[in-house]
Amino acid sequence: MTSPDWYEDGLPHIWLPYSQMKTAPAPLAARATEGSRITLEDGRSLVDGVAAWWTACHGYNHPHIRACAEAQLARMPHVMFGGMVHEPALRLSSRLAALLPGDLERVFYTDSGSVAVEVAMKMAIQYRLNRGETGRTKLLAFRGGYHGDTLATMAICDPEEGMHHLFAGVMPAQHVIDLPQDEATTTAFEAFLNAHAHEITAIIVEPLVQGAGGMLFHAPAVLRHLRHAADRHGLLLILDEIFTGFGRTGSMFACQRAGIVPDIITLSKALTGGTMALAATVARRHVYEAFLSDNPEHALMHGPTFMANPLACACANASLDLFEQEPRLEQVAVIETALREQLEPCRPLPGVKDVRVMGAIGVVELDRIADPAALRTRFIAENVWIRPFRNIVYLTPAFTIKPEQLQVLTQVVRTVLTV
Ligand SMILES: *Cc1c(COP(=O)(O)O)cnc(C)c1O
Repeated sequence: MTSPDWYEDGLPHIWLPYSQMKTAPAPLAARATEGSRITLEDGRSLVDGVAAWWTACHGYNHPHIRACAEAQLARMPHVMFGGMVHEPALRLSSRLAALLPGDLERVFYTDSGSVAVEVAMKMAIQYRLNRGETGRTKLLAFRGGYHGDTLATMAICDPEEGMHHLFAGVMPAQHVIDLPQDEATTTAFEAFLNAHAHEITAIIVEPLVQGAGGMLFHAPAVLRHLRHAADRHGLLLILDEIFTGFGRTGSMFACQRAGIVPDIITLSKALTGGTMALAATVARRHVYEAFLSDNPEHALMHGPTFMANPLACACANASLDLFEQEPRLEQVAVIETALREQLEPCRPLPGVKDVRVMGAIGVVELDRIADPAALRTRFIAENVWIRPFRNIVYLTPAFTIKPEQLQVLTQVVRTVLTV
């Protein structure tokens, strides 16, 4: 099969994500998307099980998002946010504040999840400095977690499982311990806090599901425990809802399932329905108020060039319209039931360690995957786009996926894992 000229000409000049470029299989050439389908340049069409790294919750090319993007593109694609505001960003901010629980009401925009987490870390550290509390600059994070790839966020990812252990010693060290989920880890967690809380400003966790760290689930009670512990020790609680936010676990935000309000929350991935790069760090009133001062040094000194990009904010508003106008959370509930029924038959298959489902997340965990790239190639041969990593095969489809398309995905997972 011949490749288009742009592919042959450009491939020698591209550096791919998470890839050993010496051995990485040739990437697929995508031409177009529609709903839950990706069409390739060679004419093949794949059913999409990943939703573009969990972003495309309404499926690809939703006409409402497109219409709003086109209107915004014609009016004002971008303007600097320093000294100016605009309707798309302010509307989005008031809508996010209304959707989020408690007084999470101050929105700071960035363009990627990692940077949203960095801003949350910076807020949490400066919160102490502004209040004259010295020596409380550390973050407490958990094994199995993933919060981004930038230097500061690498230090709060899982140190061993994570993709960043090479950099240990380069980044400012943070505390990463076990999530308190049972008696032993809870005792260890309490002991750790008693010893170290005085040097820590905040706890950061992905609520309910640790995504890129292995799609690990925990109970809502764990989050309530973290909230209580944070309150007892005067710590901030940061919830990284970049993966779980906007319906993925079955509620609009995962923290709502636990009935807790974090002090800071980070959002990205599905924020624009998978169309534009946008992220938000949202702070509660008391966090924000620690930055109000006559001292100029107490201001949050951060401001990405493309902050609150109007086009991206217009897409995010359009995405929120769809959550209001279409039955997204009901669709997630239907997907959850289907995933449970259709993935359960994988449990007795050889090498399968666990099958678990939460919301629109279906996971088949294996003892090990010898060659994830080879497994991906087998999925592509079956005309589905599923991207196994480490020892898991997972499905995170668009909430609008058709039942028969979901069935294709789960059937192929069963078939490929059976052979
Ligand atoms: C994807 C992700 C990030 C990083 O977001 P990027 O946009 O890739 O920088 C951070 N936290 C969580 C929970 C994520 O899933």
